[in-house]
Amino acid sequence: MFFVTSDSDEKEATGPQDTPQHEKVIIIGSGPAGLTAAIYTARARMNPLVFAGDTPGGQVSLTNEIENYPGFPEPLGGTELVERMTAQAERFGARIEYDTVTEVDFVHGRPFTLKTATGAVYKAEAVIIASGASPRKLQVPGEAEFTGRGVSYCATCDGYFFRDKHVIVVGGGDSALEEALFLTKFASQIEIVHRRDKLRAGAALRERAFANEKISFIWDTVVDEIVGDEVVKSVKLRNVKTGETRDYPVDGVFIFIGHEPATALYKGQLEMDERGYLITDKLMRTNIEGVFAAGEAQDPIFRQVATSVGQGCAAAMSCERWLSEQ
Ligand code: NAP
Repeated sequence: MFFVTSDSDEKEATGPQDTPQHEKVIIIGSGPAGLTAAIYTARARMNPLVFAGDTPGGQVSLTNEIENYPGFPEPLGGTELVERMTAQAERFGARIEYDTVTEVDFVHGRPFTLKTATGAVYKAEAVIIASGASPRKLQVPGEAEFTGRGVSYCATCDGYFFRDKHVIVVGGGDSALEEALFLTKFASQIEIVHRRDKLRAGAALRERAFANEKISFIWDTVVDEIVGDEVVKSVKLRNVKTGETRDYPVDGVFIFIGHEPATALYKGQLEMDERGYLITDKLMRTNIEGVFAAGEAQDPIFRQVATSVGQGCAAAMSCERWLSEQ
């Protein structure tokens, strides 16, 4: 995955650049974890360079409204929150590059070498990875079009907008059941659409879901299409055993079929669990000294803006302390 930084290779790898740009701290990712790390490292006069990545602002920038981020009693748009964090980081001197890191070399010692999609090569004394994760997609027609307009990947974020509505939850794992149970606070009717007739979710959540009168199940069924005008109006369901299809009116489609951490870049270099989440200690350190990680790239559990912000802050403070000891 990484490229080797011998003299001859480096010349080829640098492309348009003659000499790699040397940075003290590079932050990969511009969601809440990356931008918080940028605020803290910039304020500590470390002049961080942030690579915004393919989705500037990360997942939160795709969220309609955020109501549970402390300090904002009125709902706040995800884009606005990211813009505010970006402005705050830039005010302290952080630089944001709208480019994506495509290769890293963490194994041939420091400074680390990073290459971007535009062919630029950088050297960094320290790296903070905040590349995030993304919900696995169904990849059916209408899914992308209606995201934020009836299709959601976050009940905590969007459940409130479905008060007294009829929604379906797609998936059969712990997340699907946990989020369906959360949605019972708001929605009047919740159906869990699962592609098999057995749940993957554990017994405790299964029992709670079966006992909840607002929740019912549509077994052996997949969503082939999401249909609407301004907002979602219906889904096309298909029974995988009988092949029978039907148009089913719904107000919302919550999809929980797993998450994928954006960590493929680090495979073979950084320790990760079997699902690809980076392994960090309490100081947000990875197994490579000088490489820190924060946010959803290393957090399969909480996945909240507030927790990502906390982890980004912790990674930046650890990074600063580590650099000052060098
Ligand atoms: P998961 O356990 O991987 O379950 C994903 C579910 O989505 C499975 O039921 C799977 O079906 C279904 N699925 C996957 N791809 C699909 C597709 N293309 N179309 C339709 N259905 C699809 O993911 P998760 O529920 O997000 O959980 C991730 C991890 O976090 C798990 O280890 C889980 O135990 C843990 N977790 C724990 C808790 C808790 O303990 N409270 C809460 C949330 C998550 P199949 O079953 O047929 O494969």
